[in-house]
Amino acid sequence: MRYFIGNWKMFGVPKSISILNKINSYYSKDKNRNKYRVIITPPYTLIESYSKYFKNKKILIGAQNCYQKEQFSSNTAAVSSYMLRSVGAKYTLVGHSDNRAEGDTDAMLKDKVRYAIKNNLKVVFCIGENKLEKKNKKTLSVLKRQLAKVLEKKFNRNNIIIAYEPIWSIGTGKIPTAQDLKKTTIHIKKVLKGIFKKNSPAVLYGGSVDGNNVEMFKEIKEIDGFLIGGASKTSKKFIDIIKNYYR
Ligand code: PEP
Repeated sequence: MRYFIGNWKMFGVPKSISILNKINSYYSKDKNRNKYRVIITPPYTLIESYSKYFKNKKILIGAQNCYQKEQFSSNTAAVSSYMLRSVGAKYTLVGHSDNRAEGDTDAMLKDKVRYAIKNNLKVVFCIGENKLEKKNKKTLSVLKRQLAKVLEKKFNRNNIIIAYEPIWSIGTGKIPTAQDLKKTTIHIKKVLKGIFKKNSPAVLYGGSVDGNNVEMFKEIKEIDGFLIGGASKTSKKFIDIIKNYYR
């Protein structure tokens, strides 16, 4: 199974559902539709209405983050996995570099993953090195540490997807070389096998993916799909990624 996950970040109002409607009609008619899943993570404000609307359709709705406590708490503006699930979310991102930059620690991320799984959300756990770490050839050790600090064998690996998102690639138009990306993805899967003592969960790539460069990514069979930011806010750009992937 391949995954095409759109991360809308701080984008979208109720009428933006027209973007998803177009993606959904493409997806419903695509002859390759059984090979992949489309998940969109709009902002919190749209999760309930979009989940209701797409309840019996192909697209699944997820959240971009969740709070590190179980159900209800006294933390102003926080939203828990329990609350997300109650309005129809099926997935949640955890550990996006935007949120790590705003203070999410490994300990907080571990709780987010734990409670998300407990509340029946599938977790898309984001990892990635920054520019300096890449320059200093620390990519593989950074990724290993990010995985090992948060994931545990007892977490149900069927509910976990990893998104490898090099920070220097997000929103910049810069992408890793095919050779580097293949090596990194194999490394991530090896680390995951070590943690779970079973086959690795799916590993996605994220960072400036578009309809042109997806041609290069599709050659790397170890990559199980994509986390797509900018190009998920326009139906044509998002559909082009899927079209060109299966071309
Ligand atoms: C992201 O922020 O998760 C992302 C992958 O963004 P972009 O595709 O715009 O680089």
